[in-house]
Amino acid sequence: MKGVTILGSTGSIGVSTLDVLARHPDRFRVVALTANGHVERMAEQCRRWRPDYAVMADEEAAGRLAGLLRGEGVGTEVLAGRDALSSVVTLPATDYVMAAIVGAAGLMPTLAAAQAGKRVLLANKEALVMSGDLFMRAVRDRGAELLPIDSEHNAVFQCMPPRFAEGLTGHGVHQILLTASGGPFRDRDPATLDAVTPDEACNHPNWDMGRKISVDSATMMNKGLEVIEACWLFHTTPDRIQVVLHPQSIVHSMVSYCDGSVLAQLGNPDMRTPIAHGLAWPERMDSGVEPLALAGVNLTFGEASTQRFPCLGLAFGAARAGGTAGAILNAANEVAVAAFLGGRLPFPDIARVVADVLERCTVVPAADIGTIMAADGEARRLAGEYLQTMGRRN
Ligand code: NAD
Ligand code: MG
Repeated sequence: MKGVTILGSTGSIGVSTLDVLARHPDRFRVVALTANGHVERMAEQCRRWRPDYAVMADEEAAGRLAGLLRGEGVGTEVLAGRDALSSVVTLPATDYVMAAIVGAAGLMPTLAAAQAGKRVLLANKEALVMSGDLFMRAVRDRGAELLPIDSEHNAVFQCMPPRFAEGLTGHGVHQILLTASGGPFRDRDPATLDAVTPDEACNHPNWDMGRKISVDSATMMNKGLEVIEACWLFHTTPDRIQVVLHPQSIVHSMVSYCDGSVLAQLGNPDMRTPIAHGLAWPERMDSGVEPLALAGVNLTFGEASTQRFPCLGLAFGAARAGGTAGAILNAANEVAVAAFLGGRLPFPDIARVVADVLERCTVVPAADIGTIMAADGEARRLAGEYLQTMGRRN
């Protein structure tokens, strides 16, 4: 029996993870669930799963949750705050940690899971974008197991040679081909993007996801973050990664080899596949996902344009720059996406905020967590300044 702690259990990935766990009660037990502010949903999850601990982001939400559970005889201990997140991932009873908090808020507990030598099921790509070097060193030094859950990286992982960590070239890998659907605005006239609403941007053609990653998919910053994520996970550089437009989201990514072979992983677009893969690895287990019916499916591929999707170009630039560039890019993007979702920034200006902040920040080696958090803070400050100046102009 493996003990599982889910960071971000009330979100899209968290709920899919519980759906997969429910199919295997003989293999997994839920140790702790965590969420930001979704008290009612968390209360339902506690009633159903009876975890040892539930962690809410603040005291107020934790108090409300404890109040709901108290009268019902649910023995879950309710905790609050950031330190509690890191303490539940490091519990001896926790074997596997699903890292599915969205954004920089996921960095510290995800890093804590790696440092505690756990199996880390990594959905929170922002953690790796911010602190890839530190994170990968923690995984190696503390004997943690890192299983990519992001569908593209899970696909690449499945197509990689077994000893890829020793170096891609030595094992015949030529390139990583990351597929991208192009999101809801793939074919839209760029001149009309000023008017798009948050709901339109979140209406992804193939995937049902949280709002932040949905906006990132519409700008293709998501693919950009994934390029950086792939560099760290697969010990490679951005010049070995190609982004391929694939509107159907059936081929989740590919690995091209020096003998001309291209290995691909295919499946229906449903995150329960990579989640089940990460939980069962190196075995396989049922995920609840329908088998792929290929008859009549038309698979098409094209080039991803950094002109149409400037965020993709900015992320490639940050990947080449290294150091704190990833943390700066990520923080500026988080501020810009929140402003867009709050109706305070037009969609095309997300890329403008990120470009402006990257230009004004100095990139330094991401030597330690203090340096990374300082870069994150400075980028958030500069992005806030940009938004204020813009507000004054309008
Ligand atoms: P979501 O918004 O649906 O859920 C986010 C979860 O994190 C929620 O449980 C929320 O309560 C929690 N959370 C948010 N802010 C928090 C904070 N400050 N402190 C503590 N908890 C907080 O997001 P999602 O779509 O499930 O994505 C989660 C992560 O997985 C993201 O990093 C995303 O990039 C990645 N991912 C998601 C998908 C997908 O299909 N949804 C695919 C690939 C990767
Ligand atoms: Mg992805």
